[in-house]
Amino acid sequence: MPLRDLSAGPRVLLKRLRELMAEPLDPQERLDRIVTQIASNMVAEVCSAYVLRSDGVLELYATEGLNKEAVHLSQLQMGQGLVGTIAASAQPLNLSDAQAHPAFRYLPETGEEIYHSFLGVPILRAGRTLGVLVVQNKASRNYREDEVEALETTAMVIAEMIATGDLKKITAPGLELDLTRAVTIQGNGYNEGIGLGHVVLHEHRIVVTNLLNEDSDKEIIRLAEALGSLRISIDDMLSRRDVAQEGEHREVLETYRMFAHDQGWVRRMEEAIHNGLTAEAAVEKVQSDTKARMMRMTDSYLRERMHDFDDLANRLLRQLTGYLGRSMDELPSDSIVLARAMGAAELLDYPRANLRGLVLEDGAVTSHVVIVARAMGIPVVGQAVGLVALAENGDAIIIDGDDGQVHVRPMHDLQNAYEEKVRLRAKRQEQFRALRSVEPLTRDGRHISLNMNAGLLVDLPQLSESGAQGIGLFRTELQFMIASTMPKLEEQEAFYRGVIKQAAGRPVTFRTLDIGGDKVVSYFRAQEEENPALGWRAIRLALDRPGLLRTQLRALLKASAGTELRMMIPMVTEVSEIRAVRDLLQKEVQYLSKFGHALPRKLQFGAMLEVPALMWQLDELMAEVDFVSVGSNDLFQFSMAADRGNARVSERFDNLGKPFLRMLRDIARAGERNRTLVTLCGEMAGKPLSAMALIGVGFRSVSMAATSIGPVKAMLLSLDAGQLEAELNAALDDIRSQEPIRELLLKFAEANNVPL
Ligand code: PEP
Ligand code: MG
Repeated sequence: MPLRDLSAGPRVLLKRLRELMAEPLDPQERLDRIVTQIASNMVAEVCSAYVLRSDGVLELYATEGLNKEAVHLSQLQMGQGLVGTIAASAQPLNLSDAQAHPAFRYLPETGEEIYHSFLGVPILRAGRTLGVLVVQNKASRNYREDEVEALETTAMVIAEMIATGDLKKITAPGLELDLTRAVTIQGNGYNEGIGLGHVVLHEHRIVVTNLLNEDSDKEIIRLAEALGSLRISIDDMLSRRDVAQEGEHREVLETYRMFAHDQGWVRRMEEAIHNGLTAEAAVEKVQSDTKARMMRMTDSYLRERMHDFDDLANRLLRQLTGYLGRSMDELPSDSIVLARAMGAAELLDYPRANLRGLVLEDGAVTSHVVIVARAMGIPVVGQAVGLVALAENGDAIIIDGDDGQVHVRPMHDLQNAYEEKVRLRAKRQEQFRALRSVEPLTRDGRHISLNMNAGLLVDLPQLSESGAQGIGLFRTELQFMIASTMPKLEEQEAFYRGVIKQAAGRPVTFRTLDIGGDKVVSYFRAQEEENPALGWRAIRLALDRPGLLRTQLRALLKASAGTELRMMIPMVTEVSEIRAVRDLLQKEVQYLSKFGHALPRKLQFGAMLEVPALMWQLDELMAEVDFVSVGSNDLFQFSMAADRGNARVSERFDNLGKPFLRMLRDIARAGERNRTLVTLCGEMAGKPLSAMALIGVGFRSVSMAATSIGPVKAMLLSLDAGQLEAELNAALDDIRSQEPIRELLLKFAEANNVPL
């Protein structure tokens, strides 16, 4: 039977509902009239709407046919009775004899025992269940497929009423609807700090407000056209050269193409249009139904596919609504951006002044976007799985980058507690700021050089604000990672010049390109590697592509004309690599002087110590360089054979354990022996406890995130370095003691009032 024959009923109903939505009625009356309309249109004796409250209770909000006294009194728990089962499963129930169903639960106040047939559908929005809509008849019958569809379509209208907050006005004081339910998700804190603000969904979700169509045929054509463009755009993406090779990206696009041609999907959307929805409302309805079902699946592969499907449906919605992208002018002034995943450059598109935080469903602490977010000094939470589906644009949100918690639509008391926390933090920051110009001397008078890490121009204002002595690590690859094409010599030179200028005389240590491994530069295509962290990266890649390195060296030399140039080489494994870079540098110096360019006044040339093999070449290495900077992030991962980006193992071993501290002590001692400056610029320098340990094993210079300088300085001002050194050395040399060194350090700090 052609679908069109079945569509007259729902179309008339939807038209009537549209009129009801437009009438100036109070919410209860509107809902009452809606259920009456549905009952009469579907020739049902009963129609009832249950709304899900934030305490998990489904409350009867309106009914035609059941006892009216039961409205706002009849309640079922999620999962309880037929209505609770529908809500929990997000699936319709179509029964000819409701009482015979094992989940049936008799509610005496409703008087429903005389009705045999029962059809209930979930009220869904963006895949979330907001309530249940039910029709019942005395006679025993099974509702037809098209009637199920029609009721589902009608449920969308009620979802809209709930989502727009209309029903809040008839919700008992002290209770809340589930849509406004507070949700807390535990992720991982990737950058400390607390952000209070409002949700901005990075993958913009189109809110369909125009639900009901005037002309189904027109909408069918609109849908077909939008699908056509969508398919073409996916084919285009697939045929582009950069996805032509095998890889994850290609696999995702292939999945998209499969969905986009899925006849079942298209048919369901067409059915919804025939039932009276606009093309975009039909896309949203089918998306919501599918999402609701998939969200309940436990299979992680299928759940992942749900993201793909959801993304595809969003693309289709954008096609249909002609969405041209977000206008940055409309961002809330306290935006907290939520994304499944995001590239570093995309984050930089947001105006810094509006950003209060970033939450990612994926992402590791070392992913580029996280590095950039930290450079921008905003709190970041990663691995907040499932959050995007639970939040709407504009929801109130709190993120806690310290413990990794994210609170969407928080309750008032939580909001107050966090506001208090923010005030305390600000006070602490104020105290740290007061230390800005205090000399970093330990209690026993040893000077510790405190420097900051940077990589973008947005970092530079922090230099004077934090009171750092200089920039101990400037990650030059960030400029490359956020660009869409390889930065040219002039661009690199201008960038370095800008950095040096803004540093206003404070020393900046530029690290040459550290790309490869997890630091992917899209336009520099390397071969797939089995073990990228151990692969063709950093200095290895640079020596094999000397043109790239020479361009950078030239840009650095030119930008530092007349001042001191400090530079260092990442991922050195053998001393010969240092010699090779020196040769290239010499060639560049000769080239520039031949053409009459001014040269740096002084050159300080260093190596990063990140590969354990250098531990047995320390004296040779130090004979070749002016300074050594320990990259403890990499040195630790390679020493412990524990991937720094893999949360399962990255914290399995303690970087304050004996092996790593002994290794660091050996490096500091080699520095003293060779009179070579030794510094450390990995994450451990920024934690007061580990910074204390570093001083204890002999480090006198460290570099860290700008926000850590205050806390680390506060720690060292109260530290007796000599006493710590003696106790720590004794513990590191004691082969019998099993007390973890971390414990010893904590006890030391407590006994000596060292603030951590
Ligand atoms: C390190 O490895 O410790 C380091 C500072 O370099 P990156 O984190 O950029 O690899
Ligand atoms: Mg490193």
